[in-house]
Amino acid sequence: MTLDKLVLTDDEWRARLAPDEYAVLRHHGTERPWTGCFVGTKAPGTYVCAGCGAPLFRAGEKFESGTGWPSFTKPVSAEAIAEYRDTSHGMLRVEVRCARCDGHLGHVFPDGPPPTGMRYCINSVSMKHVPEGQPFALVTK
Ligand code: FE
Repeated sequence: MTLDKLVLTDDEWRARLAPDEYAVLRHHGTERPWTGCFVGTKAPGTYVCAGCGAPLFRAGEKFESGTGWPSFTKPVSAEAIAEYRDTSHGMLRVEVRCARCDGHLGHVFPDGPPPTGMRYCINSVSMKHVPEGQPFALVTK
């Protein structure tokens, strides 16, 4: 399922998001490890984009990576996220963004557990948790 894109100006994002959400989602910030609200959570449900509400990751694919950031073996679908080569900070990494609103989520590394072997290392502040059985609410323009 491909959702309609949500495109807002930088000013619109700044007005809508909390300062910590804005810094990470729109300006590639990174929350300090072990500080995010979802590091240790195990509640069933779905993690959606804090910017646009699009579903990103399922609780069932969350695992304890020991890194201090919520980590997942895969997104809800390949279409939910977009991946970009990131050479910032003297490293070669793969950046992960929300495909719908282009918000920065984190990075993906090829050192995760089975079944995918991937570790989606995501900032808590980039996501909201929707408990199992509750409807999603997409943010619109
Ligand atoms: Fe989004």
